[in-house]
Amino acid sequence: MSSMNPDILVVGSANVDFTVTVDRLPQRGETVSGGDFRLAYGGKGANQALAAKRAGTAVLLVAKVGRDPNGELLYQRLIDAGLSARGLLRDDDAPAGVALIMVDPQGHNLIAVAPGSNHRLTKADVQALGASAFTARILLTQLEVPLETVEYVLRRGRESGMTTVLNPAPGRQLTDALLTLPEIITPNETEASVLSGLAVTDPETAAQAGARLLARGCRTVIITLGAQGSLLVRHGGVRHFPPFPVTPVDSTAAGDAFNGALAVALLEGLTIERAMVYANAAGALCVTKRGAQEALPTRQEIEALLRKAR
Ligand code: ADP
Repeated sequence: MSSMNPDILVVGSANVDFTVTVDRLPQRGETVSGGDFRLAYGGKGANQALAAKRAGTAVLLVAKVGRDPNGELLYQRLIDAGLSARGLLRDDDAPAGVALIMVDPQGHNLIAVAPGSNHRLTKADVQALGASAFTARILLTQLEVPLETVEYVLRRGRESGMTTVLNPAPGRQLTDALLTLPEIITPNETEASVLSGLAVTDPETAAQAGARLLARGCRTVIITLGAQGSLLVRHGGVRHFPPFPVTPVDSTAAGDAFNGALAVALLEGLTIERAMVYANAAGALCVTKRGAQEALPTRQEIEALLRKAR
């Protein structure tokens, strides 16, 4: 397994999600009973790594997983999904990251996250993996592990000649130094709003936010717009990529499907424009299925949708 040469390196989080569907969300101090419980595996790092893997590439996920019972479940799940043990670091002290989620019939939710071992993935952990991790061609990372680690991997990836992609999620303000390290950033509407200070709701406002981010020093900004597709903003100009028409069932992990597929398309040498069409197709397919990791499309499904749309 350690002989596997990854094409895509993902450094990020892995979580266990506990979801209860309720008739209505509880008020403070209130108990709402009668819901259904579902356990699922998530975390943006794991989701994006699996998205890239389903699209048919060799992925190394670097994540940190506690040794508590949830962590054991999560670890086994990631191994069963075909990820290499090499990148799945264990934490003897902190429990695995968990998300507690409540969802009502309208799809509104309340979520509390305990990052646990995700917040203990250090720069030293990544260094200990050795230089071979950085022989991958694409680096994909998010903001669910310490910022110092994110900054380190982006810098190291860049020095190693990798194409570096930061999905700046969950949304938070970033310094110009960090924001301008990756070659490509991929915020959704909320994250683009946080980073630009402008309310992003459609392609026009996304273009304005993108221009702000270029002014801050970004080179390629890709803003995902849910059912409105995605927008590419570069110094060369702005281009909107319309969504693939699908019947949405559950939008969970659409952004993760998009980012994983984008990395795969870039790896395969597609232009950024064609890579965005590929990623849009993956995002659209993801919203047609319930769940997160279960909903990530395969390469065959993505290619079939692309053929159908031609
Ligand atoms: P996030 O999950 O991070 O909020 P988005 O909701 O922006 O990400 O979705 C990512 C991508 O998935 C979009 O850019 C789009 O290509 C695709 N997508 C999401 N929702 C839909 C939808 N209802 N119909 C078609 N494509 C969608």
